Amino acid sequence: MSATNDLKTRQNAAVAKGVATRGIYAARAENAELWDIEGKRYIDFAAGIAVNNTGHRHPRVMAAVEEQSRAFTHTCFQVAPYEGYVRLAERLNAAAPGDFIKKTMLVTTGAEAVENAVKMARSYTGRSGVVAFSGAFHGRTLMGMALCGKVAPYKKGFGAMPPEIFHSSFPNAYHGVSAEMSLAALEELMRTSVDPERIAAFIIEPVQGEGGFNIADADFIRGLRKISERYGIVLIADEVQSGMARTGKLFALEHMGVAADLVTMAKGLAGGFPLSAVTGRAEIVDAAPVGGIGGTYAGNPLAVAAANAVLDVIEEEDLCARAIEIGEAIRVRLTDIAARQGMEPIGDVRGLGAMMAFELVTDRKTRKPNTALAQAIVAEAEARGLIILPCGMWGNVVRLLPPLTTPMPLVEEALDIIEASIEAAISTASVAA
Ligand code: PMP
Repeated sequence: MSATNDLKTRQNAAVAKGVATRGIYAARAENAELWDIEGKRYIDFAAGIAVNNTGHRHPRVMAAVEEQSRAFTHTCFQVAPYEGYVRLAERLNAAAPGDFIKKTMLVTTGAEAVENAVKMARSYTGRSGVVAFSGAFHGRTLMGMALCGKVAPYKKGFGAMPPEIFHSSFPNAYHGVSAEMSLAALEELMRTSVDPERIAAFIIEPVQGEGGFNIADADFIRGLRKISERYGIVLIADEVQSGMARTGKLFALEHMGVAADLVTMAKGLAGGFPLSAVTGRAEIVDAAPVGGIGGTYAGNPLAVAAANAVLDVIEEEDLCARAIEIGEAIRVRLTDIAARQGMEPIGDVRGLGAMMAFELVTDRKTRKPNTALAQAIVAEAEARGLIILPCGMWGNVVRLLPPLTTPMPLVEEALDIIEASIEAAISTASVAA
């Protein structure tokens, strides 16, 4: 039995089935490459789901963590606070969009950042309603899953959702949902289902991650900002996937010229160490009662040291510019492939910076999802040594999340694999049909 099959058997017997996994068992990783336990090398365009924006084991990040580990690894910030946390908060306050006084709290996961942002918004407004959007992903905790705008698999079988969570339509140009239509749907929701004066927060991903790399139209975000101001609703931007230079700006929201009241961050924030943050208007962040927010591991010193190094690397290596350079190379190649005869199943190529994706359809007119083809492309790429991920409401979108430190020759090698994988998957599908 191969080492992989052996480990798969042990995993099946020992690990919860609900944690869906691929069959690549990691042995080691460096920048944009990963080697499995069979010694097979992959280019990693999943980056641990948008976490390793600075690549695997960035030397600067590793050195910061090693140095911190020699001082202390855990005290609990609530028991014995430390300078790194305060410094990171200062830096995030200065970096997040919005010309107002900001404060930050650190937690551990994206879902936890979302939970805390909602708690702050509720505490500040004295209201309980929260509006999220179709296709949204905000995490797997109780509130996180309730906010998700997709039932299967996130909410399936998990019982009653917390009350006062509503969903409205996220604009989707490719599927004919304009900013205007989405704003009208929100007004309708506030006429038919929930009094705007009961709504504590709107929560939105400026670029949806799991939902299919759908970019929120700037007009929509501006409209949302206006409605939130009209009714005193806190606007939360969930930048857990789109943040930390991924889209060519530190925050995707900067592309849209709008500042949210609260921003959630995680993933790329600490370059592979578990850390998340809520940054926003000081008066909203401070509305939570003393002792009402926090956590034993929240703002772990090693992860904080990593995050401070990540911010240095983003600046010094100009990773926003690199995101644009890499994203453009991907866009040009994918657009080129999609324009060729026989490539009609590629219905759309979209994205912002290095947050690029392509959507597979059965027919360019009907734009019906082609989930099987997306799965086949991902599997072909894996066999050829490239890790990529599906996403989207129907799992028919292939997303590319290269580390922003990927050298261009490696980007080109990955694009060659993608091209070959698309060709192979389409030709196998047409033979089968
Ligand atoms: N929000 C967004 C936008 C995300 O993409 C994710 C993770 N995919 C989360 C929240 C939840 O993050 P975590 O898995 O770290 O809890």
